[in-house]
Amino acid sequence: MAGLVFKNVVKKFDKNVVVHDFNLEIKDKEFLVFVGPSGCGKTTTLRMIAGLEEISSGELYIGDQLVNHVPPKDRDIAMVFQSYALYPHMTVYQNMAFGLELRKIPKGEIDKRVKDAAKILDIEHLLDRKPKALSGGQRQRVALGRAIVREPKVFLMDEPLSNLDAKLRVQMRAEISKLRHRLQTTMVYVTHDQTEAMTMGDRIVVMKDGRIQQVDTPMNLYNHPRNMFVAGFIGSPSMNFLRVRLVEEEGQLKVIGSDFSLPPIPERREALAQYIGKEIILGIRPEAIHDDVAFLEAHLDWTVNVKVDVVEPMGSENYVYFTLDGENVIARVGANSTAKVLQQHKIAFDMSLARYFDAETQEVIH
Ligand code: ATP
Repeated sequence: MAGLVFKNVVKKFDKNVVVHDFNLEIKDKEFLVFVGPSGCGKTTTLRMIAGLEEISSGELYIGDQLVNHVPPKDRDIAMVFQSYALYPHMTVYQNMAFGLELRKIPKGEIDKRVKDAAKILDIEHLLDRKPKALSGGQRQRVALGRAIVREPKVFLMDEPLSNLDAKLRVQMRAEISKLRHRLQTTMVYVTHDQTEAMTMGDRIVVMKDGRIQQVDTPMNLYNHPRNMFVAGFIGSPSMNFLRVRLVEEEGQLKVIGSDFSLPPIPERREALAQYIGKEIILGIRPEAIHDDVAFLEAHLDWTVNVKVDVVEPMGSENYVYFTLDGENVIARVGANSTAKVLQQHKIAFDMSLARYFDAETQEVIH
């Protein structure tokens, strides 16, 4: 059993705090993803788990063991790096066997583990090759294989797919997801790519500036973001944000921009009551903006007239760009949308999916 627990963990480089008061429990056999923009402290946190970076204060447990001062080799952890870090002069077999030889595992056992891992990863036919004779995707498999043969309690992966081209990345994403179901070990995965996080993680830790913004399942992050940062980071294209004023007219709430006026749904009334007369931020996802006739006719008071800036046909859908109150807004609409560049177009916000944020704190209003 190997869950992980961070208790008030802080990491400083000199006086510079790069991980602030980190508290987190990772469950045994969980696939947990750290996601956030460059420099937010993901890699540093992963390296603290591996023992490659000292913890400045706080406690880190792997299973029941406090590991603050346990050296990397005694942590029963395997790490897969972005660079693969394969030994160029060794064959694939030797690369995978090397770590086990250092640990004085008997030859027969090594042979079995290497061959089993090669089978899982479909690289049995490559065992005699050197890394330079492999494609990027094959090298990545070997790097994974080297970790698998160790049979670690915890797998750590630092942007393992970022050196692969877009198509291979999608393939390997699915491979790693398959692998984790076969291996049944705890995995901690670092990426700056929200799609990878959403598609692979049981839970996701969204980080910014060395602080946890939210820890949740992919769908909860998507549907119930705690603040504007999480709302904007998760989902592609990003959530649209509009600065609006909340007013009450004849007993009904309205969010007002200079070009539009839209009613929040009655269920939001209680949460929004204290913001009447104030500025708030309206958040609406591109997929919650529609332009098909059926939706427009059924929701007349949710419609807005806009002038279209750009239409991007994606095959199965269109991205329609327009400007509202000086903000760029993107709508994801159907492939048969009639939107035309520079022409007026009627769209409707699905206000049942709108989110509202405090304009000062950027926290969600709920
Ligand atoms: P990226 O996706 O770019 O790798 P990250 O989220 O993984 O970013 P970290 O690499 O953990 O971020 O870096 C967090 C912060 O710590 C950054 O500001 C970085 O400059 C700083 N940092 C990392 N390693 C060191 C070091 N050895 N000495 C000083 N500062 C460091």
